[in-house]
Amino acid sequence: MAVIITYQRSPTLITVSALYLHLITLHEVSPPGLPMAKTLIDEVRSGSIPDEIVIVAKEEGVDPRKLAKLVAEGRAIVPRNVRRTGKVRPIGIGEGLRTKVNVNIGTSGTVIDVEMEKAKARIAVEYGSDTIMDLSTGGDLDEIRRVLMEVSQPLPFGTVPTYQAWIEGVRKYGGLSMPSDWFLKIVERHLRDGVDFMTIHAAITKDLAKRVVKSSRVAPIVSRGGAMLAAWMLENDEENPYLKHWDYLLELFAEYDAVISLGDALRPGALADAHDEFQIAELVNNARLARQAIARGVQVMIEGPGHMPLDKVVVDVKLMKSLSGGVPYYVLGPLVTDAALGYDHIAAAIGAAIAAAAGADLICYLTPAEHLSLPTPEDVKEGLIASKIAAHAGDIVKLGPRAARKDVEISISRAKLDWEKQIAYAPDPEKARRMYERFRQQIASCTMCGQYCVFLVLEKYLRERGELSVDDVLKRFASCSGLP
Ligand code: SF4
Repeated sequence: MAVIITYQRSPTLITVSALYLHLITLHEVSPPGLPMAKTLIDEVRSGSIPDEIVIVAKEEGVDPRKLAKLVAEGRAIVPRNVRRTGKVRPIGIGEGLRTKVNVNIGTSGTVIDVEMEKAKARIAVEYGSDTIMDLSTGGDLDEIRRVLMEVSQPLPFGTVPTYQAWIEGVRKYGGLSMPSDWFLKIVERHLRDGVDFMTIHAAITKDLAKRVVKSSRVAPIVSRGGAMLAAWMLENDEENPYLKHWDYLLELFAEYDAVISLGDALRPGALADAHDEFQIAELVNNARLARQAIARGVQVMIEGPGHMPLDKVVVDVKLMKSLSGGVPYYVLGPLVTDAALGYDHIAAAIGAAIAAAAGADLICYLTPAEHLSLPTPEDVKEGLIASKIAAHAGDIVKLGPRAARKDVEISISRAKLDWEKQIAYAPDPEKARRMYERFRQQIASCTMCGQYCVFLVLEKYLRERGELSVDDVLKRFASCSGLP
């Protein structure tokens, strides 16, 4: 059973940031260093092992001191905003840990149904998502964020503040003339609400934005936040606001001890665009920014593709890990074909399994509705289950016996025709039971082969071999962890 803790910590310096944001407004410069409360990275660097680390280590079956060292080095993270209230399940994302899965929910500019988004959040919790992100772009964004954060307990909660900055900025300033510090004000609003991790597209520079819109890329920018920032930079001929105020942003995230998820505004949105100069240039920038963040005690992960041919996925993960020094990698799929409309959750799951096996740490799910419409709650369920299967398949390679117990249990049950145990381990037990029972007859096997079931044909001979031990079978996995 997962451990859930209730956060009641309150930062002592929260109000100070408002003062510095005011200074930025006046002078457009980064503020001097603040005396900070300790971040999780600071805590582990000083030799202590906070409760979150102990809980995650126990859940993952790893040594807490080893996990603390990984967090200190920025190779693993535990998202937690000191302002987040209510029940939160600490989860670890990174090296040597189970691959996690994220679900995106949220209104769109054209479909604003908060009850439906709440239903999606409940499905994410029920079917085992590890984290959740609110990507709302329609309605009262502050109110929706707060409501969804409440319903999403106990999952760590993420947002993309660029959306709100752009949408409300256009409304407030009557166009794209909002000042650069406006983007930071919205970031702080999300931090104050307790958002645990945020996509910050700091690595798309003005130069990259100018060049990519003139490039021969099939899809120049497919990141919504990236496109918004690019439009702002091109319109105002100004540098990326997150990059311009990067030092201040680090102060802010350290103050709330939240995680920066460095966005991939220039991720490939078509197979033909994978690993082009724009994706790699942004990745290099992100790796540099990530190292700066970790040095300042701010937890960080880097977001990745996107659309990518199968044979580039392993290279992509290895390159990112090498450039960043092992920072957790958060990939969107990747989709390994552009031609799976209506089944993009499957295209993404194929790429995600390979990425996870190669070392990706957090998988963002895709639903069957990707590229077509806002997903329904049923789409969310399908997408989440597909991604969880992919993450688990990757973990069997990445973590070996630590990840494979469930597989061994179910395969032994399958050979024994123990249907109850098999169904209990299914990603969606209700669906599995419905299928098992739909042509049901009085026979020990299922109706796929009926009386010609291999286990019935060989029953007499199989009886002689005795019981198999789960631990003995698990030993066979010991040699198969780690892709070349
Ligand atoms: S009937 Fe066929 S599919 Fe069903 S358990 Fe037996 S061998 Fe497997």
